[in-house]
Amino acid sequence: MPHARYLDPTGEKYGLPTYPWGAAWVLDDDLATRKQLAAMGLRPAGQEPAAQLMWGSRRGKGRRVRTALLYRISLSKPKLPMTRARARSLAAAMRARHTCPSCHLVFMYCIPTSLGQCPNCEYDTVPEDWELGYQDADAYFAAVDSAWLENAA
Ligand SMILES: [Zn+2]
Repeated sequence: MPHARYLDPTGEKYGLPTYPWGAAWVLDDDLATRKQLAAMGLRPAGQEPAAQLMWGSRRGKGRRVRTALLYRISLSKPKLPMTRARARSLAAAMRARHTCPSCHLVFMYCIPTSLGQCPNCEYDTVPEDWELGYQDADAYFAAVDSAWLENAA
């Protein structure tokens, strides 16, 4: 346990529950750094940090102890309020990623960027039923759209 000195789950030593770098996810999967929250489109939204990460950095001379505050994912809020316009543009962007630019069919999967079109256009094959599910896709996008609109309200 090389990082045991940075492990203090009760906060007795450091005043805030403290985990070594990389360990917090294992111990409590509701915790995330501000940067990890941002990657999920979330922000801490005024909550106090629930814990911190601590690790030794060898950059420059000597050894510095560095920390990163951890926040609860469950208490975080979306970074930007979800507006009707944002929900629509996100749904449209998702739909575009599922639409083949060559045959204009909507697929259940994202069109592979390596091909630039659906595999059926690329290899001159006929799409299978499960691939298309055009109706299903419509229902899916409608459901996603209304979920976002509910959050906006
Ligand atoms: Zn196609």
